[in-house]
Amino acid sequence: MSRPARARIDLAAIRHNYLHAKSCAPSARAWAVVKADAYGHGAVAVARALAPVADGFAVAFLEEALELRESGIEGPILLLEGVFAPDELAAVDRAGLDMVVHAEHQLEWIAAARPERPFGCWLKVDSGMHRVGFAPPEVAAALARLRACPQVGRLRAISHLARADEPGEPYSARQLAAFDDAVAGVVPASLANSAAVLDLPTAHRDWVRPGIMLYGVSPFDTAHPNAAALRPAMTLESALIAIRTLPAGEPVGYGGRFVCRRPSRIGVVAIGYADGYPRHAPDGVAVMVRGQRAPLAGRVSMDMITVDLTDLPEAVVGDRVELWGARIDAGALARASDTIAYQLFTNLKRVRVEHQR
Ligand SMILES: *Cc1c(COP(=O)(O)O)cnc(C)c1O
Repeated sequence: MSRPARARIDLAAIRHNYLHAKSCAPSARAWAVVKADAYGHGAVAVARALAPVADGFAVAFLEEALELRESGIEGPILLLEGVFAPDELAAVDRAGLDMVVHAEHQLEWIAAARPERPFGCWLKVDSGMHRVGFAPPEVAAALARLRACPQVGRLRAISHLARADEPGEPYSARQLAAFDDAVAGVVPASLANSAAVLDLPTAHRDWVRPGIMLYGVSPFDTAHPNAAALRPAMTLESALIAIRTLPAGEPVGYGGRFVCRRPSRIGVVAIGYADGYPRHAPDGVAVMVRGQRAPLAGRVSMDMITVDLTDLPEAVVGDRVELWGARIDAGALARASDTIAYQLFTNLKRVRVEHQR
């Protein structure tokens, strides 16, 4: 027997969520964003499960793309940050990847390359995120330069929204206007992350880029009608490995943060911050035991957490515990712990990942 901590990945849920993105943006094609090992869900398994339905896959950098190609993924793959050095362009060419061009130096590397086939390029427009991309006044010249390059085949424009997860926030409209002014509608466009797929049809354009929604988590802090159909794909679970009875007044765990207010049954679950459970989870956030919610009681340790089972007298050592998944919303746990589900998912370590079709 081994430690019971594991993440179960429901690939059918991811397929359902991808098709939900397509139904929200029916006239657009959709990059399934599988960077960072598909947000911790296993990029190869996720891409294989989505391959029959997905228009393409988006990753952050070359090695992530090559992992997909080497595992037999044949459709379009987009490098969201393009190349980091000119010697990557040969591999981009061989693997037939699309790439973002966000800076002058990338443009020069492309202009100096000798690819077998012309590159598919996505000129990144800085419409207001102010991380990477060409500023609106530079866009026309950059597009013209790329168009004049024999190394460049299909040319598209891409941008990223800073506040699409805040429905009604006027900054998104400002970004769309800046983008439209800059590219003047002359090339196909991609702007929408999950939040914009669900809430901002004016951003859908030619290609959308759903990420977090594929994994079944809403990008919004509050309920949204288009997010209700999402199905959580990851269940993080472990088991009760000890239960003790403590009198009222006894503290539990490091720093004695939790103090029993009544005679209490405290359960110990084999999961901790070294596995990716958030160390800043406060007392009271729930785990699921025997179909009931049990509150966290005491600080999260490296390998264990403690939960209050006083109202769950039937719980016994060995019981399965859900930390997040279908019953415990990873987004809500993340918010309570001052982080986001993206970080919970991408911080998973030490737990077995099991995929289910
Ligand atoms: C990660 C990423 C996305 C996906 O964002 P979600 O909020 O997860 O949908 C889309 N576009 C770019 C450029 C990204 O880096």
